[in-house]
Amino acid sequence: MTTGQFNLVVLGKQGAGKGTQSQRLCEKYSLAHISTGDILRAAVQAGTALGVEVKSVLDSGGLVSDDLVNKLVEDRFKRDDAKRGGVLDGFPRNIGQAEALDDILGANALKLCLYIELPNELVMQRLSSRRVCQECGTTYKDTDPAAISGTCEVCGGDVVQRSDDKPEAIQKRLDIFERDTAPLLSFYEKKGILETVDGDQSVDTVANAINAVLAARGLV
Ligand code: AMP
Repeated sequence: MTTGQFNLVVLGKQGAGKGTQSQRLCEKYSLAHISTGDILRAAVQAGTALGVEVKSVLDSGGLVSDDLVNKLVEDRFKRDDAKRGGVLDGFPRNIGQAEALDDILGANALKLCLYIELPNELVMQRLSSRRVCQECGTTYKDTDPAAISGTCEVCGGDVVQRSDDKPEAIQKRLDIFERDTAPLLSFYEKKGILETVDGDQSVDTVANAINAVLAARGLV
């Protein structure tokens, strides 16, 4: 990896807006969107060997093995669209994965960790009303017309509730976040690359706050 790359990690509980903000950052700065959750869900939907292996773990809200996701991320960085760098969404999820990411990227290639903060009550509210297009990943609220009709406005795909957005799975993922992922905040703080943004604001306001952070750090 070259050190001229722009790589950043977006951390947050599920439903904090990581996916939406990561997508925006990738479009704005021509970076690869590296979402391990999206890669795994696509594999499940396509019924590949990987998908068959991980389906039950994903459905329950548990985590797949570090070795498996580390390899997925390493391979993803070899693709052409990641030459300028990538926005990591949903990875790393624990200290072991963060150390693996350092090895994958090499010295200094990670410029920033953005933490989109959201209290647990709001996570519960947002996720239990979240619906998602199985084809293109566009998200809706349960009261949106596309969620009611079950048909995506963008691509015509099926709009459904993710199996891990059911209450028991949401709580399980929150517990895992607290136990395994929250320690990453001090891991990145010690490296001097952690910035926190309030996730309880509109999508545009959060995006503006993120851009202000990038500018203040001289990254854009
Ligand atoms: P996400 O869309 O990021 O919430 O990911 C959906 C599911 O994919 C998670 O609940 C895990 O089962 C799995 N997954 C995604 N990223 C990781 C990761 N970095 N480590 C382990 N499992 C992951």
